[in-house]
Amino acid sequence: MVEAQNMYMRYHKGEQYALENVNFTIDRSEFVFFVGSSGAGKSTLLKLIIREILPSSGKLKVFNRDVTRLPRHRLPYLRRNIGMVFQDFRLMEERTVYDNVAFAMIVIGSSRKEIRRRVPHVLKLVGLQDKAKVKITDLSGGEQQRVGLARAIANRPAMIIADEPTGNLDPGTALDIMNLLHNINLRGTTVLVATHNRDIVDRFKKRVLYFENGQLVGDELKGIYSNVH
Ligand code: ADP
Repeated sequence: MVEAQNMYMRYHKGEQYALENVNFTIDRSEFVFFVGSSGAGKSTLLKLIIREILPSSGKLKVFNRDVTRLPRHRLPYLRRNIGMVFQDFRLMEERTVYDNVAFAMIVIGSSRKEIRRRVPHVLKLVGLQDKAKVKITDLSGGEQQRVGLARAIANRPAMIIADEPTGNLDPGTALDIMNLLHNINLRGTTVLVATHNRDIVDRFKKRVLYFENGQLVGDELKGIYSNVH
C-alpha cells in the first residue's frame, strides 16, 4: 500500500534532511502510528504520501505506483483514494454537517442520488445521524472531528491519513475518535495516524513507526510509545 525505499527528503539544498534513508512497507488494511517529537519528519512523510511534495531521492510507492513517476493526470486518482483528517478539522464552519460531507462527494462528481444515500450512512457510522442539519460552529470539538472522519470516508478511500487527529481534543473525546478510526480500519481501510499522543498509542497496540531527526529508528508491531526506540 505504501512502500518507501532509501527515501530521502530535504526541502532546500544544503539543509539537513527532513527524512533520511527511510525504508518501510505498509500493507493493505494495516493500522499504523507515526510517532516522534516535533520536527521528527512525520508531516513530511504524510505530505510525501499524498504527493504534495516529492522525495529528493529514493523510491516511494503508494497504491503500488511510484509517486515520483506519477503523471499529473493520475494525481486526482491518488488523492481520491486517500481520506485526510486534520488536527484543526478544516471544515466549512458556516455550513451544516450534511453539507460538509456532501461537498467532498460533489467535488469528485458523485450523483445527487448517491450523495443522498451515502451522507446519512457515513453520519450514522460516526454517530452524528441526528446532527445532519446542525451548523459546524454549533458542535463540540469531538463532534467536529467526527464530521472530519465522515468526510474522509465519504468517498470510500482505500486509505485514511490522520495528522494529529486528537491534538485539539480532551482525552475521553480523543479516545472516541481513535475508536472510530479503529472501526474504520476493521472495515478494511488502511489507517495511518501521525500523533504525539502517548496514551493512545500505548492503548491501541498497533504498529508504530518511530521517527527521530528524520530517521526511522523503530518499527514495531503492537508498539508501546516509550519502548519503541
Ligand atoms: P513533524 O511533523 O514530525 O513535526 P516535520 O516533517 O514537520 O516534522 O519536519 C521535519 C523537518 O523538516 C524539520 O526540521 C522541519 O523544520 C523541516 N521542514 C518541514 N517543513 C518544511 C518546509 N516547508 N520548508 C523547510 N523545512 C521544512
